[in-house]
Amino acid sequence: MKQKHYDYLVVGSGLYGATFARQATDAGKSVLVIDKRDHIAGNVYTKKEHNIHVHVYGAHIFHTNNERVWQYLNRFTKFNRFTNSPVANYKGQLYSLPFNMYTFNQIWGVVTPEEAAAKIEEQRQEIKGEPKNLEEQAISLVGRDIYEKLIKGYTEKQWGRDCTELPSFIIRRLPVRLTFDNNYFNAAYQGIPIGGYTQMVEHMLDGIEVLTGEDYLKDREKWNALADKVVYTGPIDAYFKYELGPLEYRSVRFETETLDIPNFQGNAAVNYTDRETPWTRIIEHKWFEDLGSDKTIISREYSSEWQPGDEPYYPVNDEKNQRLYQAYKEKANQEENVIFGGRLGEYKYYDMDAVTASALEMADRELALNKE
Ligand code: FAD
Repeated sequence: MKQKHYDYLVVGSGLYGATFARQATDAGKSVLVIDKRDHIAGNVYTKKEHNIHVHVYGAHIFHTNNERVWQYLNRFTKFNRFTNSPVANYKGQLYSLPFNMYTFNQIWGVVTPEEAAAKIEEQRQEIKGEPKNLEEQAISLVGRDIYEKLIKGYTEKQWGRDCTELPSFIIRRLPVRLTFDNNYFNAAYQGIPIGGYTQMVEHMLDGIEVLTGEDYLKDREKWNALADKVVYTGPIDAYFKYELGPLEYRSVRFETETLDIPNFQGNAAVNYTDRETPWTRIIEHKWFEDLGSDKTIISREYSSEWQPGDEPYYPVNDEKNQRLYQAYKEKANQEENVIFGGRLGEYKYYDMDAVTASALEMADRELALNKE
């Protein structure tokens, strides 16, 4: 039997790959999507257990100010009206995040914005001159009490180093709200896809051929022969067989547990801001979309150093890695008929709305170029 030939082979069924595949298909192109994992949706993949959508690769909260992206994704799902309002747990005391009038009342008992502003101003005076490290920078922005209770432990666990050893530029500014507003993202649109992210991506890929459990890099000649052009959303360094060295990532480890109680912490996200608790936060998945379950599923998140072979999560934004990425990018520019995109293909932290926008823009350019 003659093997079918496609206009595009899309490597990766995450948001970037799914968006491009949808746009190309709608423009009349033939598309095959492959993914090396045994499921679609990339890192936004959700899995239903005990009537709870579990965010398998970490909590994902959709938020955007981009009208086009919002309208686009609403073709494939309805969003609920989830608002991200995390809580901080410091040694058993709970504080509202991001820093707002509730937080200042909990910390100092102050009631008016004027009192809160005066307290912050008084504590900021501790730092004279240019802050020399992250600790001094944080105190110079919000004062010692907030630093000690809500910033220090969390940041040290995230980076695996003391705040006095971290550079000040990591925190350029800290949002301080002198209002009772704990809506973390404050975006025009935010929510969680009703029915889960996986279902949203399923709808995006509706009518498109998809093969899971297929690694492009294991037999690229075979896959290349199937299509005129490849859209590659895997790691750019893996594509080039790490010939210039591996790009580094920061990693997170998740420990997920099902509990025989209906409510563990009463909120989707609780950050543990002391140093002693080994995890940085606990996610309780059911509060993203409450479908009713007599059980609950929680994930403890631990920051960990990334080792080659670990799941790549956050690109490292330092000079060494950016230089290495630029070198890979130059090689990528020489590759004929391959488009590199998405968080791994561009070694870039993208929020979900930004990666969708990026794929839409690339599809606009690419499909206009290839109009028959
Ligand atoms: P991915 O989703 O990673 O998709 C790439 C796909 O390519 C994967 O499925 C992979 O299996 C496949 N692939 C790779 N190599 C190959 C190969 N050789 N052959 C075949 N397939 C291959 N964004 C938000 O807006 N809000 C949030 O709350 C949020 N939380 C996040 C939490 C964490 C812990 C992380 C890491 C990210 C978070 N994000 C969030 C960002 C979001 O995850 C990304 O925007 C999105 O996943 C990027 O989509 P992508 O298609 O570029 O990559």
